[in-house]
Amino acid sequence: MLDSLQREAFCSKKKETRTIFIGPPGAGKGTQSPKVQDEYCLCHLATGDMLRAAVAAKTDMGLKAKSIMDAGELVPDDVVVGIVSEAIEAPACKKGFILDGFPRTTVQAQKLDEILATKGVAIDKVINLQIDDKMLIRRVLGRWIHPGSGRSYNVFSSPPKVPGQDDVTGEPLTRRSDDTVDKLRSRLKAFHKQTQPVIDHYERAGKTVTIDAKQDKNIISDMIRKALGDPDA
Ligand code: AMP
Repeated sequence: MLDSLQREAFCSKKKETRTIFIGPPGAGKGTQSPKVQDEYCLCHLATGDMLRAAVAAKTDMGLKAKSIMDAGELVPDDVVVGIVSEAIEAPACKKGFILDGFPRTTVQAQKLDEILATKGVAIDKVINLQIDDKMLIRRVLGRWIHPGSGRSYNVFSSPPKVPGQDDVTGEPLTRRSDDTVDKLRSRLKAFHKQTQPVIDHYERAGKTVTIDAKQDKNIISDMIRKALGDPDA
C-alpha cells in the first residue's frame, strides 16, 4: 500500500482520463473499476452505490429513491445529474473519473456533456461491456458484496474462502436487495430501453469501445487498458 506522499508522486505523472463504464447489471463494471481506478489515479463514481448510501442514511433523497430502486426503475435524471456534478469536483477526481452506472439515459448523457464542456473537458472513452441477458442471471443471483470495500464475489464462479465472509477482512458479506429474478428483469428492461441509446450517443461521437464481457476478467482488464491508453503517456 502506497502512503499518501508516494501516491501523490505516483499520480502526478498520470494523464487525465474521463471514462464511462456502461453495461447491464452483472456485466462487470464494479469488478473492473478498482484496478483501473488505482492504475490511472481516477475516482470511481458509482451512482447506484451513492444512492444506496443515501437510502441507508435515510436522507430526503434516499427516502424518495428507495421505492424506485426497489422496483428496478430509474430515479429521476435531475437527482443523479446533481449527485454526479457535485462528486466530480472532489480532489480524488483531479486526474479524472470512472462513471459506473451513469449516464443511463440520453438526457443524463447530454447534461454530462454540457457540464464537462463548461470546464473545457470531455469524456475520453466509453467502455461498453456487452453480454447476453441470459448470462446475467447466474452472475447477479450469485453475487455477494463486501460493503466496506465494494469487493464482490460470486457463489457459483468466484466464491469467498469462507462462505459469507470477506477474504481480506473476514467481515460479513451482504446481498443487494434488487439482485432478484423479478428485479433483474425490470433492470434489464430499463437498460435496453433507456441506456442502449446512451451507448449509441457516444458511438456516434466515436468514443465507444465495445468489449465482450463474458471473457475472463483479466483479459477484459487488458482490453480496457488498451482502450484507455497508457496512463503515463
Ligand atoms: P446499480 O447499482 O448501478 O445497478 O443501480 C441500482 C439502482 O440505482 C438502479 O436500478 C436505479 O434504480 C438507481 N440508479 C443508479 N444509477 C442511476 C442512474 N444513472 N439513473 C437513474 N437511476 C439510477
